[in-house]
Amino acid sequence: VCVCVCVRKREGIFLDKNVYDWSSEEEEPDGRARPVQVLLVKDDHTFELDEAALSRILLAEEVRDREVVAISVAGAFRKGKSFLMDFMLRYMYNHASEDWLGNADEPLTGFSWRGGSERETTGIQIWSEVFLVDKPDGRKVAVLLMDTQGTFDSQSTLRDSATVFALSTMISSMQVYNISQNVQEDDLQHLQLFTEYGRLAMEETFLKPFQSMIFLVRDWSFPYEFPYGQEGGMKFLEKRLKISENQHEELQNVRKHIHSCFTNISCFLMPHPGLKVATNPHFDGRIKEIDGEFINNLKVLVPWLLSPRNIDVKEINGSKITCRGLVEYFKAYIKIYQGEELPHPKSMLQVKINTIFPSVAAAKDLYNKKMEEVCGGDRPFLAPSELQARHSVIREEALQVFRGVKKMGGEEFSRRYLQQLEGEIDEVFVQYIKHNDSKNIFHAARTPATLFVVIFV
Ligand code: GDP
Ligand code: MG
Repeated sequence: VCVCVCVRKREGIFLDKNVYDWSSEEEEPDGRARPVQVLLVKDDHTFELDEAALSRILLAEEVRDREVVAISVAGAFRKGKSFLMDFMLRYMYNHASEDWLGNADEPLTGFSWRGGSERETTGIQIWSEVFLVDKPDGRKVAVLLMDTQGTFDSQSTLRDSATVFALSTMISSMQVYNISQNVQEDDLQHLQLFTEYGRLAMEETFLKPFQSMIFLVRDWSFPYEFPYGQEGGMKFLEKRLKISENQHEELQNVRKHIHSCFTNISCFLMPHPGLKVATNPHFDGRIKEIDGEFINNLKVLVPWLLSPRNIDVKEINGSKITCRGLVEYFKAYIKIYQGEELPHPKSMLQVKINTIFPSVAAAKDLYNKKMEEVCGGDRPFLAPSELQARHSVIREEALQVFRGVKKMGGEEFSRRYLQQLEGEIDEVFVQYIKHNDSKNIFHAARTPATLFVVIFV
């Protein structure tokens, strides 16, 4: 009996732990709703759409002809996205009732969320249950929840993350951009990159911009400057996205671009949930152990995102989309990204060039300035070996200037420019050699004008 109990217990744990790894090939063990990976970015950077899983969820009879509200939460790993989505699920399952948060002792379940920093996959998961919600105007709409993750940590994964973010923005009516602590320039640049990818792909089929973008700032720690919540968030975002004349052109461009992409942009500032949530490995999500301030704001945030009054149906090119339509769009969009011919977004290039070119220019300036001091116009002739030695030192200094500037686009991209810079410096050096040689009295003897100058200096 004992053995039997142990095995059962272990099975129970096993099931719970792995319930999130379920894929369409496997049977749903118990028919319970769960997250389903519909888009997967594989190690070789190819995209795989699980059409069967997508169809099974969105083409279910009860939902397929309903207009769809698609809500996506996107951002880097380990920033509390799934944790938040589980509260969103609770709200949906409790039918937006007053006490939707439920029992203070109830562990949080749904999308897999956890601490630590093990490897995760880039892609899109959707909740297998599509919720039917009555809008105040009497229409019944289908609400789809999506969890979108990227890595954003290297050149090779940036394109993957950008594509996933773009796709989820294209197919959602509301994109919640989950970021940690603040809206950094990096976050905005990533966003520009993502939306540019999306726009490029959309241009091939549709011209309509995206719908709603919500910046959700987690662990906001300046409530005395901008209070938690949506109003504080809006004021903060206005300040952050403000375009001013003395801003660098690149910063201006990012801001203009974001404004031009979305019909609605808003922001919500969330407090830190407390140390138990952030650091305790045994924390299971019960409300009792979460900071009161966080819960209070959660009570505002979730209905603000999901209440029947606030949710918007997905529109493409001005037409409302059904679940069935969404499947078609999903398939069409993914084809664009699977094709090799998708050009690199102009802004991506621009962002890189904007950081590359100033450092190239600075490096060249330094080289020229120092070489002028060594062997410029009125400097005396130097022995070729001496000139070579001075050149080598200054060249290295200049290359160091280039390498020292933090550049977006990663090693591979900047290596090309480094090689170009090296080539250009070497060309200039050839000019300096000629110029130096011309000061050599024995050489110069052949050119009377120079001889004149040399003799009378
Ligand atoms: P995801 O990878 O973005 O989906 O992140 P998870 O939801 O899996 O959460 C990662 C870790 O962050 C977990 O240990 C959570 O308990 C913790 N966490 C959740 N929400 C927050 C938050 O608002 N702030 C902080 N600092 N940690 C959080
Ligand atoms: Mg997650």
